[in-house]
Amino acid sequence: MATYSPPRSETPNPHVAVLPSPGMGHIIPLWNLANRLATDHGCHVSYLNITAEASPAQIQLLSSPNLPPTLHVIDIPPAKEPTQLPDDTLAFTRLCHIVDDNLRELKSILLDLGKPKALVIDIFCTQAFEVCKELSIPVYTFYTASAALFAFSLYLPVMDHEIECEFVDLPEPVRVPGCSPIRTEDLIVQVKNRKIEEYKWFLLHSTRLPMAAGMLLNTWKEFEPITLKAIKENPFYHQIPAPLSYPIGPLIKETEPITQSGADCLAWLDNQPPESVVFVALGSGGSLTAAQLTEVAWGLELSGQRFIWVIRAPNDVDPTAAFFNVGDKTNNPKTFLPEGFLERTKEVGHLLSSWAPQCEVLRHQSTGAFWSHCGWNSTLESMTYGVPMIAWPLYAEQRMNASVLAEDVGVAVKPAVNPEKGVVSREEIKRVVTTIIKSEKGKDMRRKARELSESAATALSRSENGSSYESLVRVVQEWKGN
Ligand code: UDP
Repeated sequence: MATYSPPRSETPNPHVAVLPSPGMGHIIPLWNLANRLATDHGCHVSYLNITAEASPAQIQLLSSPNLPPTLHVIDIPPAKEPTQLPDDTLAFTRLCHIVDDNLRELKSILLDLGKPKALVIDIFCTQAFEVCKELSIPVYTFYTASAALFAFSLYLPVMDHEIECEFVDLPEPVRVPGCSPIRTEDLIVQVKNRKIEEYKWFLLHSTRLPMAAGMLLNTWKEFEPITLKAIKENPFYHQIPAPLSYPIGPLIKETEPITQSGADCLAWLDNQPPESVVFVALGSGGSLTAAQLTEVAWGLELSGQRFIWVIRAPNDVDPTAAFFNVGDKTNNPKTFLPEGFLERTKEVGHLLSSWAPQCEVLRHQSTGAFWSHCGWNSTLESMTYGVPMIAWPLYAEQRMNASVLAEDVGVAVKPAVNPEKGVVSREEIKRVVTTIIKSEKGKDMRRKARELSESAATALSRSENGSSYESLVRVVQEWKGN
């Protein structure tokens, strides 16, 4: 483990530890928070890195040479006797076991670090509550998904207690107090079957949420106004022994490592007309079935529009197939793309294997739309840069995000699955790609995304006393006063 002697408690700058769970969708936002705390809020930060099963993308991100001097990565060595899991264990269950195994030494790690003033955890690291109670270290959670899912998580223990059937069999949408109704088919995947281990882990972590000393949310007032108002004002949330929740987002990557293939992709973008390119990237874990991948290729080709495609080998069983090895560039697209596709699209398309510098692409003026699985970080990144989306949910709570983006916020178009074929057809793909790049409807979505981009910048602005900036200031003040 890395050795680091943090300043002792006499310093006015609090020392806090930050603990992400595995998976880039968790590692990245906690990393963004750690950087913010170190650069803008005068904190000394120890970022606790679970090294077991680290993906190439994780290793690359955390080995950045340009860290702020007050941010240190503390490697947690892989657990000695990890739980042996069958190969077909679902990604979320695997994630929860990795955390469980690798936090066995958390107490001694925190003691070695001289007992930080606070520990900020990812929501799937709630084992830390028990340990920190013993050490009298307050624990704050950083919820890496939407405030809507956060509110659902707070309500889930009530649903579990009161509802006997499967939630997906309910005749009506789920009504979380004060929030917009959630269609049962849009519920987070982990609660769609209450008999399996995924559900038990999700319920366990959700039940422990109110043990936090404070809950940080990666969102902002203008993006989720109804939910944030509900959490603040609805009596349901007042009777939970839950402390204050702080919207501090959107915290997204400010810099990211650029590999040679990333640099080539950005150079290619430099030569495209403004707002003309569809960026296709399905998060850190997303994979398509072979049949769907073929339709996507044909749909892009038929649309005639420019595209960047972060392509991964198809997987017919698991849409999260790349979750624990993302950034691994061993696949050869020629072996699974339609014959001649690369040749025919070489003037308009650019392919990357496995991983792209997503924020750099989204920020680029040639990018016109983001074809995304609607993971929360990808959603925040797209809105930060004012880019409308093609919503292509694959796993976790992405269906919920996709519906909100398309139906409530109006910044996304959602392709329809062909019920006979069980895939989104090439004709439908052509339609949505053309709609978002070429039509008035697409322009409208871009305008709304831009408005959100502006409100995000204001929320984070120090000089304008932005709501999210001020929320984080209040949290740090608690640490200073503790
Ligand atoms: N990401 C990236 N390049 C890629 C794919 C993903 O940089 O090719 C980053 C993306 O910018 C985001 C994170 O990985 O910060 C994915 O998080 P998200 O919550 O969107 O989805 P998840 O991977 O957790 O499903």
